[in-house]
Amino acid sequence: MSEQTENNHVVLEARGVTKHFAVRRTSRDLVAGRRRTVHAVDDVSLQLRRGTVTALVGESGSGKSTVARLLAQLYPLTGGEIHLGGQAVKAGRGRSFRSYVRRVQLIFQDPFASLNPVHTVRYHLTRALKIHGRAGSGDEELEQNLTALLNRVQLTPPHQYLDKFPHELSGGQRQRVAIARALGADPQVLLADEPVSMLDVSIRLGVLNLLRDLKDRMHLAILYITHDIASARYFADSTLVMYAGRIVEGGDSETVTQRPAHPYTQLLIASAPDPDRVADEEEQEETGSGEPPSLIDPPAGCRFHPRCPKAMERCRTELPPRFDLADGQWAACWLYDGTAGDTTTGDHEKKVAAK
Ligand code: SF4
Repeated sequence: MSEQTENNHVVLEARGVTKHFAVRRTSRDLVAGRRRTVHAVDDVSLQLRRGTVTALVGESGSGKSTVARLLAQLYPLTGGEIHLGGQAVKAGRGRSFRSYVRRVQLIFQDPFASLNPVHTVRYHLTRALKIHGRAGSGDEELEQNLTALLNRVQLTPPHQYLDKFPHELSGGQRQRVAIARALGADPQVLLADEPVSMLDVSIRLGVLNLLRDLKDRMHLAILYITHDIASARYFADSTLVMYAGRIVEGGDSETVTQRPAHPYTQLLIASAPDPDRVADEEEQEETGSGEPPSLIDPPAGCRFHPRCPKAMERCRTELPPRFDLADGQWAACWLYDGTAGDTTTGDHEKKVAAK
């Protein structure tokens, strides 16, 4: 397979993935005879392709980390399907789960919590290699494999790091060890859940550049979960925007971040720190404000309508489908319904067609 083809190849796909969590019943629930449910993720579809980074952007509580855990098969699905290499998968436990995680690895936000403080780097990496059958046939081969992993995450010279404990490393070095451990499985997909948000600003760029280098050299498909839409523009090839459990906009990162179509994406961009632009009251009125809704009883219709400055009557009752815009961009927003007679918003003069 050529490099070009390999890079366009869909490795992991979510189709209509839904996850609802039952809320523990209180005495009031028992008296009222009700069962409450958190609608954490509803009808999420996405494709991760080899050699590309897909950003999933949203505020805290939008469901983006739950999507990563569903793709990692850590939770059973309430609805929908996950396909790996074109095959529907339900990893379960035991051997089938190990076989799945060999191809799909999850990197957590907090590298300190994800590494055991009483074990060295050597221990963590050796264990990963052994679990995935890649330790080699003897001590010498194991040592070569350990060295190769540390070289790959640019912790060099490797012998300076192998026998260190997590507390002897900086936050950025710990995250590199966590990435090396994930690479021990020789995966096709990395699910990176806010991989730099707990690191000092000065070292975030280095870790993002490392992930980009791995994407290019190993043709990894990377899901980059973040609340920072500005970093999505820098790092990701395509960007999906999530609000209150649903994906509301998607497209290539440059288009989504420079010409956001959905009012929520516009709000996210207006809220991102930018020294050249201090949002004034008028701008806030244009883009909206407020808090995300409770996912126990999410708003009917468009979930963004209580905060949306452009909300129309139908937004309160009808769930907007996905409308295709130009250049592969799409938005789930009634503003783009050709039949509504209003196909423009702000400087978005785009002809749209309902999918
Ligand atoms: Fe705003 Fe309506 Fe679009 Fe939702 S569907 S984002 S409420 S205009």
